[in-house]
Amino acid sequence: MDSSPKDPIKRNTNLSDEEIDYLVDTPDQERHDVQDDNLCMLCHAYGADKRSLNIKAFYRLTEFIPELIDLKNVDSTDKDTYYLRICKHCRAELFQKLSEWRKEAISRRDEVKNHDGQLLENRTGNKIYVRINGESVPMTKEQYEKFQEEE
Ligand SMILES: [Zn+2]
Repeated sequence: MDSSPKDPIKRNTNLSDEEIDYLVDTPDQERHDVQDDNLCMLCHAYGADKRSLNIKAFYRLTEFIPELIDLKNVDSTDKDTYYLRICKHCRAELFQKLSEWRKEAISRRDEVKNHDGQLLENRTGNKIYVRINGESVPMTKEQYEKFQEEE
């Protein structure tokens, strides 16, 4: 479905084509080497006291956060990990989102689901499976057509 690594980034972010081109076309090593430890790579706040964020999720996270640097392409021992330098506010926002994500996830504990966490009621009938955010999501023909229109 995706013909270019830029397609999911375009779909999942509101970056301009030029910003996407820079982030995708500039090697991680180069971006890592020129990265300023005092610059938040997300909101661009500048000054002391930034934090390093390392994320490992066995998924190409640059589809959502193209600013991430893939450490497998950098002179680093931390392979399979993405790196981002962020300010305290962006870190606090991440913690808030993680907290919301956790609350939503644990609220589904009593629901009947498969090993991928999808509700079993979604698995019946003729479905079209669409890969979204690393998960195969079952859709009816109508849902699939609506999904394609929104792309
Ligand atoms: Zn920030």
